[in-house]
Amino acid sequence: MEHRLFEANPDPKKPKFFLTAAFPYPNGPVHMGHARTYTIPDVLARFKRMQGYNVLFPMGFHYTGTPIIAIADAIARGEKSWINLFVNVFGVPKEELEKFKEPLYMARYFHEVSKISMIDAGYSIDWRREFATIDPQFSKFIHWQFQKLKEKGFIVQGTHPVGWCPRDKMPVSMHDTKDDVEPEIGEFVLLYFKDKDGVIYPAATLRPETVFGAINVWVNPNATYVKAKVDNEIWVISEDTAYRLTFQLRKVEVIEKFKGEKLLGLRLRNPVTGEYVPVLPATFVDPKMGTGIVMSVPAHAPYDYAALMGLKPSDLSKYNVKPEELKPRPLIKVKGYSDIPAKDVIEKLEVKSQEDREKLDEATKEVYGAEFKYGVMRDDIIQYVAKDIPEPARSYIIGFVKSWIVGKPVSEARENIAKWLEASGLASRMYEIVNKPVYCRCGAEVVVKILEDQWFIDYGIEEWKQLAREALKQMRIVPEEYRSNFEYTIEWIKRRACARTRGLGTKLPWVDGWIIESLSDSTIYMAYYTIAHKIKEYKLKPEQLTYEFWNYVMLGEGDVNKVSKKTGIPVKILEELRNEFDYWYPLDSRHSGKDLIPNHLTFFIYNHVAIFPREKWPRQIVVNGWITVGGQKMSKSLGNILPILFVNRKYSPDVVRLSLMITAEVGQDGDFNEELARSVLDHLKRIYDFTQKVKDMICYEKPGKLEDIDIWILNRMQKHIVKVTESLENVRLREAANTIFYIIYDDIKKYMDRVKYHLNIPERRKTIGWVIGKIVNTWIRMMAPYTPHLAEELWQIIGGKGFVSIAPWPKVEEEYLSPEVEVKEEYIERVIHDIDEIIKVIKKKPSKVYIYVAPIEMYEPLQQAIKFVEESKPLKDFIRFMVSTAKDKRRAAEQAKKIYSLALDIPPHIRDILKQVKIDELKALTSALDYIKGKIGVQEIHVYSSIDKKAPDPGKRKHLALPFRPAIYVE
Ligand SMILES: [Zn+2]
Repeated sequence: MEHRLFEANPDPKKPKFFLTAAFPYPNGPVHMGHARTYTIPDVLARFKRMQGYNVLFPMGFHYTGTPIIAIADAIARGEKSWINLFVNVFGVPKEELEKFKEPLYMARYFHEVSKISMIDAGYSIDWRREFATIDPQFSKFIHWQFQKLKEKGFIVQGTHPVGWCPRDKMPVSMHDTKDDVEPEIGEFVLLYFKDKDGVIYPAATLRPETVFGAINVWVNPNATYVKAKVDNEIWVISEDTAYRLTFQLRKVEVIEKFKGEKLLGLRLRNPVTGEYVPVLPATFVDPKMGTGIVMSVPAHAPYDYAALMGLKPSDLSKYNVKPEELKPRPLIKVKGYSDIPAKDVIEKLEVKSQEDREKLDEATKEVYGAEFKYGVMRDDIIQYVAKDIPEPARSYIIGFVKSWIVGKPVSEARENIAKWLEASGLASRMYEIVNKPVYCRCGAEVVVKILEDQWFIDYGIEEWKQLAREALKQMRIVPEEYRSNFEYTIEWIKRRACARTRGLGTKLPWVDGWIIESLSDSTIYMAYYTIAHKIKEYKLKPEQLTYEFWNYVMLGEGDVNKVSKKTGIPVKILEELRNEFDYWYPLDSRHSGKDLIPNHLTFFIYNHVAIFPREKWPRQIVVNGWITVGGQKMSKSLGNILPILFVNRKYSPDVVRLSLMITAEVGQDGDFNEELARSVLDHLKRIYDFTQKVKDMICYEKPGKLEDIDIWILNRMQKHIVKVTESLENVRLREAANTIFYIIYDDIKKYMDRVKYHLNIPERRKTIGWVIGKIVNTWIRMMAPYTPHLAEELWQIIGGKGFVSIAPWPKVEEEYLSPEVEVKEEYIERVIHDIDEIIKVIKKKPSKVYIYVAPIEMYEPLQQAIKFVEESKPLKDFIRFMVSTAKDKRRAAEQAKKIYSLALDIPPHIRDILKQVKIDELKALTSALDYIKGKIGVQEIHVYSSIDKKAPDPGKRKHLALPFRPAIYVE
């Protein structure tokens, strides 16, 4: 920090890289979920910085909206669960907690705690640019953004359904609800079933096209229902519905309350068939969903079918229902199903009763999905229409059904019948939270309210959608499989309430009484970072930050002299700000958790294309998965929200960083647990101890001659540099971490194992010291993005210059690339492996080992065989080829078989090298003899050429030697 390594300023000589992560709400300390989202960009920031980029990674704090106020209110109300969490889990001192009733005090407190946590975690943030969304200067920026949106016609005022908290009396979306659930709003059609007196029983359905087969009506006998005056009609609905309807522009006056069982046996007239159908009991009917009145279509609704199965003959006679009345009516043809699809699926899933909720939900999903996609309305439904309705009404209805329903796909028929019934006064609509129950942070259950005069951002405008699609198309999405989630969101997203009547934040600039909500004031704030520090440095006042000011700084529009005159900001400063923005923008990478795809990240795309020219559109979005703790989702109720600071203090920041990166690849869900942290800690300790152990050997004088094994480790390091660089470029952070911390460690361990026999030879010791110095220097630089604290310490230990955090990223040194040495080392390991296998078979401790290697000339037939194998030519072709030039045809054929199968056996990457390289096996094994002896635990090992006539051959194995596979005899 004190060295200001991470403060980035425009530098035209350097390429820039600007990345941001979603800023936190300071209503608690940043926790492990944040840690994952921030460690990912920090690793990339550090990597890019070492690659020579001018990297900007800033951070701010999101005070906007209700997340802070709701919790301050809960503390003020004395809610135990929050107080426990703050005191026992977050470690807030009791005397501080008292002051949390004041929302801003609490926000400032957690703002500071979170900032300390992030510094402690080693995030390479430029803190000069920090800001809070309630800063008056930031509000001026949001004013400018909203004026721009309004000018373009993207902000509209109107009547629209929204998720609503009846206690707070305001719209709620994801960040206002418990557990961050976005309330999803669906639309029910209410079909008016009527009794003999004309009282309406509005059956709520998503499938009005099945009304032809509605042979009875369900109510829940145990729920409370009311008779109520709704607008100017008399309705019978559940008591809860009467409450919810009041939010949807309906006037509701309850006349009478009673239990649902009172309605059983009543007869109601189906609005389309005209038949009087019975009201029957069903426990699956939820009085809090829809109206509490459900029409029963057993042929196409698994719940209805299951509920009818459960009725006993005694029930039927009790309600005066004849069994034949309840026969399911087939309405829809759908391929792959019988006339009664509900029955098919119920039998397939072995549903036993209407209480089998899980299976019934699955069955419903299947039938509804199949019928919506492939279903067509049957011709014979006409027989049910207007059965008991007199002419001429009857002919009129039949005419409609014939032309608009029969033979139509389900999706069309559904809309047609709903519109027609509505127009005929036989139906209306009602909104519902379809993923209910959703709770506001204050604890009240969210309902749908039809809001009048509400301000909306209209993400449904087609030209705007089109620009968003284009931006998405040219953007890199990591991981790529999340792209379809963005595409889907852009397609369905419509109007969104953008202002609230309470909460912290910026007022709508053109009208009083509205505050811009948190998912609407956080869409282009990345641009604000580019100049946030300058606004502070030059003490610019909010009133100076006019519409013209932002137009100039963010868009380069207007005459700088006029802007200067109007704002009182010197031209030089205006130009400096413009330059900052222009240098850093567009944003190179945006980071957030996957839960923000359907809202924040999509709004981010939309608002950028609305405000900025194409060349300033964002370039990349990186989406990360969840993090669980010990296998559990973090939640307030479990009390397992782990603040970063505590975890860092317990394990050290580097352990936490590496654990989070190694647990899963970026887009996947990961788990942080004790066992993982312990094993990472132990491993980092091994790396530290190793560096301590070798530091005195390190030698900077370049040696004259390198042995094969020296070149082997240098060659391996070059390959790792290529692979790790590629992994990091592609944001495969787990893969890169695995190579750096584990694979390279194993390679270095092997190298040390190979050369320990040379350490008492002074000349070799010096060379090895030089090799170690070189590879450790490269290695520490590769660790630095992940474990910066450890890397700086190791860098000091080996006498590295300056800070490793700004040392150059390792580059491949071509001179150390040696496929030949790599293949030689592979050969030695294979020989050791083969000897081990033989020893296992003979099951005794050997005293002597004889190795016979093939002469180098035999590599020619092997190389030929490799060619045959690679061209997928069969063995017989190779035999023919070998025999054609041989004197002893039979022997040549036999030899060809062996060599061909050897070529098949060699892994492709080695084959590739062997095509051009021949190994002097005698030399290779002799030079590694100490190592081989040590590995096998046998002191007497003899290596001979297989054509050495004088070589002893006690096991008669000499003649079996093949290239790359010597003959071995163990005594
Ligand atoms: Zn509320």
